[in-house]
Amino acid sequence: MQKGLLVVISGASGTGKGTVCKKLLAESEKIFYSISATTRQPRAGETDGVEYFFVTVEEFKNWIAEDKFLEYAEVYGNFYGTPIHKIEERLNRGEDVLLEIDIQGALNVMKKRPDGVYIFLLPPSLEELKNRIKGRGSESPETFERRFQSATNEIATGKKYQYVVVNDTVDAAVEKIKSILAAERCKVNRNENLFEKLLGDVI
Ligand code: ADP
Ligand code: 5GP
Repeated sequence: MQKGLLVVISGASGTGKGTVCKKLLAESEKIFYSISATTRQPRAGETDGVEYFFVTVEEFKNWIAEDKFLEYAEVYGNFYGTPIHKIEERLNRGEDVLLEIDIQGALNVMKKRPDGVYIFLLPPSLEELKNRIKGRGSESPETFERRFQSATNEIATGKKYQYVVVNDTVDAAVEKIKSILAAERCKVNRNENLFEKLLGDVI
């Protein structure tokens, strides 16, 4: 059986990662969303164990000490980390695992897992990015400024990824991501068993 894909999606805050990932998950089979742990406070409508595992700084530090993270990073003054638990198990079962994580975290995963699929989401323009961050309505003026300032730096780092997708409309972005994943599943290095199966002892 073909191993699942480790799919990493990043992009500047407010680009629409959460929205795009939600639709991708709703429309795809056998794809598992890796729920991160974070020390930030839940936003309105967020539930512990659904969007994130909301933990204290002390709990987060214990998880680090116990080597429970594939990666972790400090983002906007809070800690975020990807629990390693179950990721390998799911990939071996042929299920894809989706990580929606920041750039520092993604660059760390790239070093550990060069076989992953790294996708960077871009906003159609900086103006539209501002509107989206404001439209989400969860930022105070200070956190808005901080998030918007770091957005341009984050966007420049996107060149280190393998794929770039502009989140113009959610539907088009999701279709592009589905196409990327379909192409990745056809890569020769993910399908060497097919040659052996077909040719057997002939070669
Ligand atoms: P992120 O997870 O990258 O921080 P969100 O998914 O929270 O971003 O999206 C930020 C805001 O932008 C939300 O209000 C969301 O509804 C909106 N949004 C996301 N994608 C689009 C899009 N393609 N067109 C218009 N608005 C969008
Ligand atoms: P938010 O607070 O808006 O949910 O997320 C802030 C940033 O943290 C986003 O860029 C998001 O992708 C990132 N993030 C979420 N989970 C993780 C994680 O487990 N690891 C890392 N490195 N970043 C994460």
